[in-house]
Amino acid sequence: PLAGRTAVVTGSTSGIGLGIAKALAGAGANLVINGFGDPRSIEQTRLSLEAAGDVTVRFDGSNLAEPAGVATLIEGAVAAFGQVDILVNNAGIQHVAPVEAFPVELWDAIIALNLSAAFHATRAVFAGMKERSFGRIVNVASAHGLVGSPFKSAYVAAKHGIVGFTKAVALEGAEYGVTVNAICPGYVWTPLVEKQIEEQAKAHGIARDRVVKEILLAAQPNKRFATVEEIGALAVFLASEAGASMTGTAIPVDGAWTAH
Ligand code: NAD
Repeated sequence: PLAGRTAVVTGSTSGIGLGIAKALAGAGANLVINGFGDPRSIEQTRLSLEAAGDVTVRFDGSNLAEPAGVATLIEGAVAAFGQVDILVNNAGIQHVAPVEAFPVELWDAIIALNLSAAFHATRAVFAGMKERSFGRIVNVASAHGLVGSPFKSAYVAAKHGIVGFTKAVALEGAEYGVTVNAICPGYVWTPLVEKQIEEQAKAHGIARDRVVKEILLAAQPNKRFATVEEIGALAVFLASEAGASMTGTAIPVDGAWTAH
């Protein structure tokens, strides 16, 4: 359904971004992937994505915590493919600490990557999408874009921010064939969650298996982690023609967490 489209997926060397990249490649979209990691394993990822969909995949390792990095990413995508039809703002980081001890530089870093990078990237692609009367922007927010949890003040603020940003920009794109939606996952099994298990164990002073049972999946009534494939399939739907009327939404994929 996405043959001939070009997609940029931020933070796609790992986790949810990589799952979305795989799904978009499988649906026929050319890709620019982005993120950090070991160059050899990123090159392998790039080749396997090309094979997944008979598409062209480029890698751009720009640091999106800086506006200049976002500009480089989008300019490189346009130079290589002519245009960006699908933008997935996914790159994100987490830090778990009580607010009174929350490191100021990590507050700034989380707002910069999880919120401001999506603004800079959207700003850079939006005029072209409007001109061509087609655009798909998918923001990977979180259940924490809809509800809060203790010790995650910066993350919850950034994710609520991106849900608000999604609504505002959806209104701006609505008459131009440009849709903007937020996916709000609960817990998805990725390296980011693995790291949080350690941090939560420290913050609450309890063991790992208790963190999984009593904190992470306690919030998620279906008692299972979502998969990156589930998130990828939703992103493909939103990016396809079938998603044309879905815009301005914040879609929970959270096993009924936010239904509480
Ligand atoms: P992850 O740590 O597995 O992947 C994050 C990706 O972002 C990696 O490719 C990493 O290299 C990249 N990245 C990190 N800093 C970057 C920077 N400064 N510039 C460019 N790229 C950078 O994390 P994940 O779990 O896949 O999370 C992806 C997104 O999904 C995040 O926005 C996260 O908040 C959101 N999310 C995750 C979960 C979950 O349970 N895993 C739940 C809800 C929302």
